[in-house]
Amino acid sequence: MPELASVVGDIAADLSAVTERGTVASYIPMLAEVPIGQFGIAVTTADGQVITAGDAEVPFSIQSISKVFTLTLALGQIGDALWQRVGKEPSGNAFNSIVQLEYEHGVPRNPFINAGAIVVADAMLSGHQPREALGAILRFIRFVAADEAITIDEAVARSEKETGFRNTALANYMRAFGVLQHPVDHALGVYFHQCALSMTCRQLALAGRYLAFSGRLSPGGPTVVAPERARRIAALMLTCGHYDGSGEFAFRVGLPGKSGVGGGILAIAPGKASIAVWSPGLDRHGNSVLGSLALERLAKAMRWSVFAG
Ligand code: GLN
Repeated sequence: MPELASVVGDIAADLSAVTERGTVASYIPMLAEVPIGQFGIAVTTADGQVITAGDAEVPFSIQSISKVFTLTLALGQIGDALWQRVGKEPSGNAFNSIVQLEYEHGVPRNPFINAGAIVVADAMLSGHQPREALGAILRFIRFVAADEAITIDEAVARSEKETGFRNTALANYMRAFGVLQHPVDHALGVYFHQCALSMTCRQLALAGRYLAFSGRLSPGGPTVVAPERARRIAALMLTCGHYDGSGEFAFRVGLPGKSGVGGGILAIAPGKASIAVWSPGLDRHGNSVLGSLALERLAKAMRWSVFAG
């Protein structure tokens, strides 16, 4: 087996020469300003090492990667009742698609497309004000990442709120079907703020440990969620974590992963590592071009694909 630190270093060095980097998300004005030439990677292993390269200490907007953490929290809050309001199937559609919602009566396909994540945010509001739900999200992220410095970038949240017409449409539509149970602006307020969490690759890789290590922060370490819950969330990451690019990601990388339009991807090699990569340029599905390439190379070199070989 090659040495992890040298694999990670080689990937960062090689990718710095790649010129085809996709395009930064432009529909959220604050994200459009992020320089495209950045790349970071952080890998935390079962024995507690954190190996980094490139811009691993630069904070970025985690966007849809936050959906993994809010799903964890909502399941903790209302349990399997959540699955009456959101499905578990890949959508095969764009992350902000409206068309599927109509013929499926306002029930989103899965918790990782925007509509599904807005339902998850709504579930988190059961018995709580938006401010309390956001406080719970921040506390959870800081706990799993073991880092009290993590914050929400208010400017990004505001930028998205001002231009989030599609998400507002999705939320109103679901409210009309009774799938959303709280005021639309409350659910959207939580959603826009969770997406605006600002984290580095190092912080994100640490935050993903409980998914890689059967619900614990390390093998045999403190428990965050039951092993079954971690396993199910990872299954959804594999099948739905990259929207209509999920099949392609499983084919190329073979790891459960969740992308965000800030250019980050959180991937897990079960039992072995939690990995965060970041590069702001996106492909046509909204997934990081260099991030996917880095994970493809890492999984291949370390033979970490969940499909073996
Ligand atoms: N906040 C973004 C949106 O709602 C999240 C999308 C994403 O990261 N794929 O459009």
